[in-house]
Amino acid sequence: MFYGTCHMKLTHEPHATVTPSKIVLKEIRKEFSANGLVLPVLDGVDFSVGNGEFVSIIGPSGCGKSTLLNIIAGLEEPSQGTVWLHDCEAAQRLGHVGYMHQKDLLFPWRTVLDNAILGLEVQGVSRSQARSRAMSLTDQFGLKGFEKLYPSSLSGGMRQRAAFLRTVLAEKDIVLLDEPFGALDALTRAQMQEWLLDLWSTFRKTIVLVTHDVDEAVFLSDRIYVLTARPGQVKLMLPVKLPRPRSYEIVTQEPFISLKAELLTAIRAESLRAQEEPWR
Ligand code: ADP
Ligand code: MG
Repeated sequence: MFYGTCHMKLTHEPHATVTPSKIVLKEIRKEFSANGLVLPVLDGVDFSVGNGEFVSIIGPSGCGKSTLLNIIAGLEEPSQGTVWLHDCEAAQRLGHVGYMHQKDLLFPWRTVLDNAILGLEVQGVSRSQARSRAMSLTDQFGLKGFEKLYPSSLSGGMRQRAAFLRTVLAEKDIVLLDEPFGALDALTRAQMQEWLLDLWSTFRKTIVLVTHDVDEAVFLSDRIYVLTARPGQVKLMLPVKLPRPRSYEIVTQEPFISLKAELLTAIRAESLRAQEEPWR
């Protein structure tokens, strides 16, 4: 067990095709209260991710995707429901997953290398040890020769890879990624997606990716959860049975196109609902 004793073992396997489960959320509800108003954000979400699986979450803006990741990471507690990590009820899970936030900024006053080692330093690893671990990976992350530069002199793709390196160096086997490619242009984005798939097959992490890009979700994932407009519920869970390794040619072929069409229909319906019911 990776943190403390497992008091509440998960006996029921909700997703029979993948064992063991790395993440299981059951009946998750979350409300935020502000100025006497209650904002329901998640409304009974069941969600699971198997060991080594790549799962994406997609849904209209404001439906609670980042909140869901915050709950998995332990930054937020659900108002109701249970979180299991590694098959154990996870009350003290903060710090046990790698998390790349939606606005994952690098510190401008730290070099690429020193940004990358931040997580290790927080864990108490000495700076020299952390640096040598990071140096051994800069080639694989396309950052070799750029280690001493500051973020302002890097391209968007490089900054993103530096943030990835920081997340991977933290050596958690669950990695949460919140819209990691949102700010990149289409070409860099496509390159980064292929690179991420390579990285995933090397490091064998369990990945949860939040994205608003349907192509990205289908290209990368084993399964995709579509959430409804707020308060978020699971509208659809779609397995992506495309062979691996995947290359970019598949995006113009079947069954990619049918999967994409099915997702777009579901997402469009929810985005319209969110627009028509702005009070939601
Ligand atoms: P998404 O990532 O799907 O765009 P979020 O999870 O960021 O959505 O937010 C869902 C809703 O919850 C939004 O309406 C947001 O304003 C609200 N929200 C998120 N975090 C908080 C918070 N800490 N306090 C109050 N409201 C919040
Ligand atoms: Mg978000």
